[in-house]
Amino acid sequence: MKTLVKAGWLLAYENGSHVIIRDGELVYEGSQVLFAGKSFSGPADRVLDARGKLVSPGFIDTHVHAGHRAVHRLMSDCGRPEFLGQPFYELMPSIGKKSKGDPRRALGREIALQARYTVVELLRNGVTTFVEFGAAAGMQQALVDEVKALGLRAYLGPGFDSGTLGCDAAGRRSFAPYADDGQSHLDSALAFIEQHQGAAGDRIRGILVPRELDTCSPELLGRANAAARERGLGLATHAAYNPWEVYETIARHGCTPIELLDRIGMLRPGVLLGHCNYCATEGRMHYPGGRDLDILAASGACVSHCPINLMRRGRMLDHWGKYRSLGIPIALGSDTYPRDMVTLMRAASYMGKMASADLFTAPASEVYTAATITGADALGREDLGRLCAGAKADFIIIDFQSRHHLRFAPLRDPVRALVECGFGDDVETVVVDGRVCMEGRAIPGFDMAALLRDIQEDAENIWDSVEGWDPLGRGAAERQPYSFPMR
Ligand SMILES: [Zn+2]
Repeated sequence: MKTLVKAGWLLAYENGSHVIIRDGELVYEGSQVLFAGKSFSGPADRVLDARGKLVSPGFIDTHVHAGHRAVHRLMSDCGRPEFLGQPFYELMPSIGKKSKGDPRRALGREIALQARYTVVELLRNGVTTFVEFGAAAGMQQALVDEVKALGLRAYLGPGFDSGTLGCDAAGRRSFAPYADDGQSHLDSALAFIEQHQGAAGDRIRGILVPRELDTCSPELLGRANAAARERGLGLATHAAYNPWEVYETIARHGCTPIELLDRIGMLRPGVLLGHCNYCATEGRMHYPGGRDLDILAASGACVSHCPINLMRRGRMLDHWGKYRSLGIPIALGSDTYPRDMVTLMRAASYMGKMASADLFTAPASEVYTAATITGADALGREDLGRLCAGAKADFIIIDFQSRHHLRFAPLRDPVRALVECGFGDDVETVVVDGRVCMEGRAIPGFDMAALLRDIQEDAENIWDSVEGWDPLGRGAAERQPYSFPMR
């Protein structure tokens, strides 16, 4: 069945770039786009009216940590100074204990709920493809189930490390290595990927995620890299993202994280690097003669930039224009919250301008490309992140008017309007693989109110349990006092 979408504005793809077509038309059949242009001449079986609205490729979120983030509600505006701002260190329990609610290592019934919340939030905000960045096997399995049911596209694979980070009896950061250097976890990740590769009509694909440079040995990274190459899989890790990791890498290996990855042969197209905001060329790192950006530029590896997470911890990428002028690909990711690519594009644009002190840096066109084409390219997918004949029918419809909010008026350029004044909530319809997954902001057959009720209940339990695993024995109110006294 051929569907014709009549767009107010169609963001189509021509000669390597998006183009805005006023009153454009998109035609798709099954999972594939047949036409994206000004006017379709052939017949269509049904018409979808999106006049006055923007029809855009769906967003590609290259950096998702699944979960409902109840624990993240305990770490904004606060944290232990000795962790140098690194968010996930704040979740580390005493070694041997589990931190309840840790989205990477959720347990039992929590897993399904957290996976469902993750996929629904992404869908609600117009993300049509996402990369999960290292949750454990139970969560990955739950994500498979949710992705199958809700219709998104996902790159999944259990994360692995050479050991576990936690806190010792004195509450200090400490690392407990595994006897096998994490090989069994890598083997399990490969088995998981073999089992699920191509599932749900090829909407699910595998990716190998050795989690961080500070938790993975060069040997484990090398074995993961070899396995990814051998099997043609994507590879993702966090690198040059955390002062602890940078200086530990220098102390242990005598080089920067980027130089270490280069030495291992892990810098190449098809590799996603989380953050890369602490490259040796960043003046605040005080690393003389740093060459990290030149190395990155020569490699084709893609930076998965998560601007909101950085800003929340007083960090930034310094800077977008410098990275891009060297030719380093930058894709976008939500990391933790909010999973709202529209807000992320705005944050990336403003951070780029602030860091460079140049208003020309990170314009709407570049951040929109990062949220669509660049993310897809990093996954080796020329059929995603763009709308042209032969691409997958993964698109979203953005409504500028129906709710009578005044943010977009007067409207001239829909892309810039969205980047400057929009929210993920403005996404009205989501189609993935030719199937309508959300329409009128509702997911067919899905009870959103029940989901919100369940996660609130789960979060209250987690907040009540913090004292049981916090390395310093703090309760929720001590970890993070309320913004004003709560009566
Ligand atoms: Zn991350």
